[in-house]
Amino acid sequence: MSVFNLSDFHDHEQVVFCSDEKSGLKAIIAVHNSNLGPALGGCRMWPYASEEEAIRDVLRLSRGMTYKSAMANLKLGGGKSVIIGNPRTDKTPELLKAFAQAVERVNGRYIAAEDSGTGVDDMKFMSQFTDHVAGIVDKPSENGVRSGDPSPATAYGTFVGIKAAVKERLGRDSLAGLKVAVQGLGNVGFDLARQLKEAGAQLWVTDIHREPLLRAAKELEATVVAPDEIFGLDVDVFAPCAMGAIINDQTLPQLKAKVIAGAANNQLAEPRHGAALMNKGILYAPDYVINAGGIIDVYYERTGNFDRAALTKHIESIYDNLMEIFARARKEERPTGEVADAIAEERFKR
Ligand code: NAD
Repeated sequence: MSVFNLSDFHDHEQVVFCSDEKSGLKAIIAVHNSNLGPALGGCRMWPYASEEEAIRDVLRLSRGMTYKSAMANLKLGGGKSVIIGNPRTDKTPELLKAFAQAVERVNGRYIAAEDSGTGVDDMKFMSQFTDHVAGIVDKPSENGVRSGDPSPATAYGTFVGIKAAVKERLGRDSLAGLKVAVQGLGNVGFDLARQLKEAGAQLWVTDIHREPLLRAAKELEATVVAPDEIFGLDVDVFAPCAMGAIINDQTLPQLKAKVIAGAANNQLAEPRHGAALMNKGILYAPDYVINAGGIIDVYYERTGNFDRAALTKHIESIYDNLMEIFARARKEERPTGEVADAIAEERFKR
């Protein structure tokens, strides 16, 4: 298999294959682009069916980070890493130590953060062996000290982004009385739903677990629907906050929302689905633009800047970024995702 010829290889600067016989580590670190700064991105642990699947994932995800950080005006490049293995059964201290040592050898060109299959505790453990991990510092907040978890920042950025999309598509500054469907009430989704409720929105929610649904019904007066019912609801905003590829050939014909704006990564199954949304008159807030609150939070931590007001202001710039994308997309009659990529490229290729 040739890595250079893979369709997911986009002139990546550096791809490092890391292994450690004793701990069984098999991992890949990909630095897509470091024009704007060191490549920061999550470390995903997943039982990939093949090495090719792992390589494709790390190449795709690291490239995405370049666009996300450039769009968020951070002095960061794009990188990502994957550890091949089951996080429930294969994650041992020895394995994490070996991975941290591999990150250390990349010498700061890549900075790891939590992702699917890894958590704040894993990053804290790894920080004993390398300085190049982020999302580990307990920070003061309005509700007391909180961990390095970036989810609250992601939820707030998504909330701000929904306001921008509502302004553009519905011409409204307020969310009061709007109908919003939230898919996935995890770390980001529940917090987002709470903010939407506080802003006066009426909520419809779904999840595959009962507990957050019961809480949302009780605390947020949300209407609970089955997972496959969320797509066809006659709502103003659909906020996907669960998994990727939920805008696809099956769900597209069902969609009635005027705005799609949520935190989930890689919401479009394929780029052509962005054009299909545009043709249906649905405004799509590109995922990596609206969900950048977490990376902004991690960046502030990484640079030792604990100025809450500055951080909040930076997260709120997601509103302006989206407005710039929407205006250009309208003018050029292009899908918002395409326009976002063009703007990000202007920033990191500069
Ligand atoms: P999470 O795992 O805490 O929450 C995901 C929720 O979705 C869970 O409650 C899960 O039960 C639910 N879910 C899974 N499959 C579902 C289905 N088929 N239908 C309905 N619900 C389903 O994850 P999170 O941290 O809240 O992240 C949510 C999304 O946002 C993910 O796509 C993630 O990649 C993205 N994201 C998160 C952050 C962050 O800071 N946490 C940052 C950027 C992007």
